[in-house]
Amino acid sequence: MKAPTNEIAKLACLIEASETVVAFTGAGISTECGIPDFRSPGGLWTKYKPIEFSEFLASPETRLEAWRRYFKLYDEVCGARPGRGHRAIAQLVRRGKASCVITQNIDNLHQESGVPVEKIIELHGNGSFAKCLSCGKRHELDWARHEIEHFGRPPRCIGCGGIVKTATISFGQPMPEDVMAKAHGAAESCQLFLVVGSSLKVYPAATLPLLAQRWGAVLAIVNNEPTDFDEMADLVINWDAGDTLSRAVV
Ligand SMILES: [Zn+2]
Repeated sequence: MKAPTNEIAKLACLIEASETVVAFTGAGISTECGIPDFRSPGGLWTKYKPIEFSEFLASPETRLEAWRRYFKLYDEVCGARPGRGHRAIAQLVRRGKASCVITQNIDNLHQESGVPVEKIIELHGNGSFAKCLSCGKRHELDWARHEIEHFGRPPRCIGCGGIVKTATISFGQPMPEDVMAKAHGAAESCQLFLVVGSSLKVYPAATLPLLAQRWGAVLAIVNNEPTDFDEMADLVINWDAGDTLSRAVV
């Protein structure tokens, strides 16, 4: 298959013509960095029954199991570096073209590509550190691993003794309201809402493209497979996210 160069040229024009771009990214932007899409068929999340947030809270044994699973996954992907898609988006932010990045990913690669933290809205949190669920204190993963390996128990907050969990949003865990409010605000105030590498299947995140469109934004979708939103989008590119963005943003 050949790259859809006409569509990619159209995307470049849309970006050029827009004063405010909001990028919305999903797993597809990070697959070229060696981070598999855990939700895809055969992916890690389909092998285990996910641990619900309520189960995590309820039992120390379940917390220990959740941490062990997490480190297994983390050790496989922790050396990943930003890819072409991340670098292109970082460039749009540097130029003042993109106002922010909304991401479903927890891999910290937008930060590592140079996008300032305050311009990244992480809908599912961040997997590169941990937080106390009671007081919010940040804890490092190395510390959590040490606690587990040396004491055989799930880590407790060094400040207040509360339950410590990766700073991600688990199944059944409510999405923080301030994060959703920021994402809504960004979607409502952009001229181009650019979906990159997301199948837009996970709610409530998938409501954002519609919201952006309702407020007048042009909707462009770059994903290697069709999405349920393709029909209403102004431009659809079913092609590799990294390749598309590196050609459209020069
Ligand atoms: Zn605490």
